[in-house]
Parts: sequence; C-alpha cells; structure tokens
Amino acid sequence: MDGIDGRVRTAVDVWLRWLPRWQIGSARPRTRICRRCVGSPIATAAGFGPDVPHPVQHALIGRVSTIIDDAVDDYTAKNLPLLKRELDRSDARKRSAGYQPADGLSPEFQGLDVDPEPEPGSPFLFTLAELAGTGAQATSPREPLSDEAKAALHHEIALSDECARATGTAVCLALVEHRDRIAEAIERLVEPQIEALVSDMFRGLDVPGTPPRGGLF
Ligand SMILES: [Zn+2]
Repeated sequence: MDGIDGRVRTAVDVWLRWLPRWQIGSARPRTRICRRCVGSPIATAAGFGPDVPHPVQHALIGRVSTIIDDAVDDYTAKNLPLLKRELDRSDARKRSAGYQPADGLSPEFQGLDVDPEPEPGSPFLFTLAELAGTGAQATSPREPLSDEAKAALHHEIALSDECARATGTAVCLALVEHRDRIAEAIERLVEPQIEALVSDMFRGLDVPGTPPRGGLF
C-alpha cells in the first residue's frame, strides 16, 4: 500500500480531476458552519485562502481527512483491541439505528447538508433527514465497564489520538508539497468563475434609476 506521501498525492490528483466539473452557484450557500473544514489545519496546509469557496475546499479536505481516518482505523484494528471492540459495538448500534442518509457518500459530500434549504412557497414532500432512523431495531443494553477496563480503554483512546495527531501532521507536511499545483488550479478554474459572478452582480446594479457607477464606489 502507498505511504502517506503517495496517498496525499493521489488525493490531490483526484481533486484536480474533479475541480474542472465544479461550477460556482451550483451549490447554495451554507447556513451552518462545516465542522470538517472550519479551522482545519488541512486547509492551511493546502494554502486555501478565505476566498476559496467552501465546496472547493471541502472536496479536498474531505478526501485528505479520509487518509487520516483510515490510518487511525488501521492502527486501531491492529493494536488497540479494547477500542476496536467499542467501535464495532458503536457501529452495530448505528446499523440498528436504521437508515442514515449521510452514510456511503463520497468524501466530496460527507459533512454537507443532505437536504436543500427549504424555499418559501415550494414545500418538500419529504426530506432525507426525516427518514433518518427509519427501520431502527432495538438493541440490548451493554454491560457496564469495570474501573480497570475503563482505564485500559482510556489508555487506548490516548494512543489512538496520538496516532491521529502524528498522521495528521505527516499528511499536512505532505500536502504542503502540492500547494503550487493546488494554487495553479484555483487560479485557473475557480478565480475566473468568482470574477465572472462578481461582474454579473455589478452589471445587475446598472439599471436605470440607480446612481452612476462612480458615485457608488
Ligand atoms: Zn466542509
């Protein structure tokens, strides 16, 4: 399997192949902040400025985050048996919790709202969020953990956090190497769309009855 550098390179390659299909205005503005992207060190490592639209950032951050998640899962499966058992249990609980609309989405879409914002005058017949949990089954309650088992589990959680930190750092360092490719693609594929949108908006202001351009700015 590829090392971290190879996986980061692949993630950037996939994002670069996806980016030409992105169109400004194809997504509505978010009303909630994205927990995956806001303040993410991956955004800093990628060199994303504040003007880069969220869906563009999210597509890369999501994909790169998956590398860290997979590395932690792998480490946990191999070295942390107690934590692995707890996670398997929690997965089983989630499965028995019924339909989850955000499950199985590709990284570009994970963490985004599953339903569009409701628009006044056009009600939805149903939303995916309303379907969450349908088909749920009852699960039996778990046995309480002993103090020793709790302490051992905390130790494994600390090791898993350490693995996530170390992998996160390695991933960000690897991503910095691709900043030029990322910046070039943003400049070529994203910035012209932002400029076109902004100039369209200003053209929209140029209607009879509005003050002359010079008076506005
Ligand atoms: Zn995001």
